Amino acid sequence: MTPNTAASADRAELGARVDALLPRTLAELAELVAIPSIADERVIDPAECVRAAEWVRAAFRAEGIPAGLELTPDGSYAVIGHRPAPDGAPTVLLYCHYDVQPILDEHEWLSPPFELTEREGRLYGRGSADCKGNLVAHLLALRSLRGGTPADDAAAYPVGLILVAEGSEEQGRASLDRYAEANPELFRQADVMLIQDAGNFANGVPTLTTSLRGAVDVVVTVSALEASLHSGEFGGAAPDALAALIRMLASLRDERGDLSVPGIASDQVWLGVQYGDEAFRADAGMRDGAERIGSGTVADQLWARPTLTVLGIDAPPVVGAVAAIQPRAAAKLNLRVPPGADAAELRDALIAHLHAVAPWGVSVETSAGELGLPFSADTSGEAFRILSSALTEAYDGTQTVTSGGGGSIPLTTTLSRINPEAEIVLLGVPDPESRIHSTNESVDPEEIRRIALGEALFLSRLVTGS
Ligand SMILES: [Zn+2]
Repeated sequence: MTPNTAASADRAELGARVDALLPRTLAELAELVAIPSIADERVIDPAECVRAAEWVRAAFRAEGIPAGLELTPDGSYAVIGHRPAPDGAPTVLLYCHYDVQPILDEHEWLSPPFELTEREGRLYGRGSADCKGNLVAHLLALRSLRGGTPADDAAAYPVGLILVAEGSEEQGRASLDRYAEANPELFRQADVMLIQDAGNFANGVPTLTTSLRGAVDVVVTVSALEASLHSGEFGGAAPDALAALIRMLASLRDERGDLSVPGIASDQVWLGVQYGDEAFRADAGMRDGAERIGSGTVADQLWARPTLTVLGIDAPPVVGAVAAIQPRAAAKLNLRVPPGADAAELRDALIAHLHAVAPWGVSVETSAGELGLPFSADTSGEAFRILSSALTEAYDGTQTVTSGGGGSIPLTTTLSRINPEAEIVLLGVPDPESRIHSTNESVDPEEIRRIALGEALFLSRLVTGS
């Protein structure tokens, strides 16, 4: 096959610009990581988030996107900008978020979480991958795309651009969703949305995430006694709320680890790229002898099927526990819902099951949190095809794969409801080694370089469709 010469030329030119601009991009990543933008005022002074928002605004303004700080319903600021498209050209929405997860146990970090630190080629720091690494990848793509053209020149970009940098994504408060619902006009102008908050299936393998599970939390509270009782005097006959809860939680899975809740199907099959057993064991950090649970393949279990996780249990801690029967116990459950399933139906089935299996006449109360709907991308569009081949080129010929996402990005569902015509694609710089949300989060700078190059190639080719 003869390579398209125009495309090869822009690949070489863009590649050289991305390479030359990468050091500056990584320096910017260090600046941004140094701002502890956790959008939780109980953890960090909200002024830090404002400082990060202002940094983002200034950086994108310098690239010719007239961005501003928009207050969203939870009090956080989204940085939003719109640069109208040249006549007849499409508009691309670039999404990322600048807030980060809390750092968890500070002592588990091998280097300070807010100091971008290099170790064996990877850059460590909270948000280095999720999602500040993606944010600077957008900047790198824009900067290399316009090359020497001034940012305010009408010819700087071949497409219209909308920037959406969310300020409280990690808090799960759906604040930007509510903002978008109240201000749908801007979001309706996008033809393509690059949701850069996903990641690569493996290091060096360009990946478009085509499905995401939805999620809902359910809290179940069991009570049976007025107050705690001496476990010797009353134990054996008195209904024990904690024991009842443990039986109920145990009924959620069968011996193999498959869900066993009536009304929640869990035999779906994943048809895209498979996730090897050994790779999964390594990525998950499974100890020798520990077995993977469930009857499907790893991909079936992670991307096609629902799952339930016990997030927390209210019970006395081991240290300080006394010889007493508990009058009350509670658990918080996290239900993940695959595309194709009805999240509300699954939530209701779970709640009905908890009531049905409660033993010994204990009283059961349940409450459910916000419903995050699953998402499934349409992979038949032009943008999907162009981006897929642009990424393959940026990754030196490695075929772009489609994978599922085990996590949830409820915003994708909101955006596709507001603008059903837009093509929504999910990608990003993290790889499985990034350990996003965990301690010692890191990013491979090569992934920032390649994703940015793929993005720049995509933006340059969207108009011509080549
Ligand atoms: Zn994220």
